[in-house]
Amino acid sequence: MAEGGYELVIIGGGPAGLTAGIYASRSRLKCVLLEANPLVGGQAALTDIVENYPGFDEPINGFELTEKMRKQAERFGLEVRNEPVNRVDKVGEDFIVYTGKGEYPTESIIVATGSEPRHLGAPGEKELRGGGVTYCATCDGPLYKEMEVAVVGGGDSAVGEALYLTRFAGKVYIIHRRDRFRADGILSEQAIADDKIEIIWDTVVTSIHGEGEVEHLHLKNVKTMEESTLDVAGVFIYVGVKPNTEFLGGLLKLDDRGFILTDDRLEASVRGVFAAGDCRSKVLKQIATAVGEGATAAFVANEYIQERRHKRAETESLGYDQK
Ligand SMILES: Cc1cc2nc3c(=O)[nH]c(=O)nc-3n(C[C@H](O)[C@H](O)[C@H](O)COP(=O)(O)OP(=O)(O)OC[C@H]3O[C@@H](n4cnc5c(N)ncnc54)[C@H](O)[C@@H]3O)c2cc1C
Repeated sequence: MAEGGYELVIIGGGPAGLTAGIYASRSRLKCVLLEANPLVGGQAALTDIVENYPGFDEPINGFELTEKMRKQAERFGLEVRNEPVNRVDKVGEDFIVYTGKGEYPTESIIVATGSEPRHLGAPGEKELRGGGVTYCATCDGPLYKEMEVAVVGGGDSAVGEALYLTRFAGKVYIIHRRDRFRADGILSEQAIADDKIEIIWDTVVTSIHGEGEVEHLHLKNVKTMEESTLDVAGVFIYVGVKPNTEFLGGLLKLDDRGFILTDDRLEASVRGVFAAGDCRSKVLKQIATAVGEGATAAFVANEYIQERRHKRAETESLGYDQK
């Protein structure tokens, strides 16, 4: 292919996609990165403070970090376009990637579309979204100055964002359905020691109430079955994520939660398609792992493209010899 088409299309502009872009551009592949959001950088760009990404002895703001990645990729010539991909078709050994704005014929693809927050599914959640129900402390936290808010969940995101919210809110409740956090040790210790945080263990939110704005939550203790009400002005939900892989249709093999299955070279079930970052079935979903996978996927994609170039050149020279 190549002429008129691309050698590589990267779908998603978070840390995984941007790192793949840096490596692919440096390998001089004919490549484009398609990002659904006007804001490049993915989930990481919405994270206020990143403390565990190597290379920064002081915490770095997630937006600043991903802006550096974007500028670095563009410095090597990566073309970034703001277009959400809605379908991918396989045509012979090649692919066509469709966005609302156009079609991208390509020899290979790196899927780096990450994941998005899961909903609680509690009555009132959908109706009050934007009226106090939120999935992003960085975006909405400053709106709750001196107010009481709740965070639902017990993983790194929930506990980290609860700590962040203490900068604004008067009080932060963490509502967690178990009797201990899944979050890493340091984060958990900080939350438990924080005077502004009160942890409500073994408890789930059964419904969310308010007239246009969140006013209170109905809670249930899963051990004692006791029900209660908690007055809060906002509820921040961090109960896991779901992968952005629906647009792939049935193209690739996925695990039972919809994450892309790959081998350790990050090759997906269809030759020529690779996956990197949070959309992939894996143990640790972090910026450090996403960038490592972006680099590996672009390296292996480059090997694949070189192999195809080599085969094309061989076929052409054979055809020439036989004339
Ligand atoms: C609240 C919170 C706090 C976090 N804190 C930390 C932390 O402190 N340290 C850390 O290491 N990690 C942290 N993480 C995790 C980290 O943000 C992710 O692991 C990382 O961003 C994954 O990178 P990614 O490139 O795989 O996916 P993402 O960052 O999710 O990027 C995927 C990109 O793909 C785009 N996309 C999706 N679908 C399409 C489509 N169809 N077409 C085109 N583009 C598409 C999305 O818009 C997005 O920009 C945090 C996450 C959250 C939610």
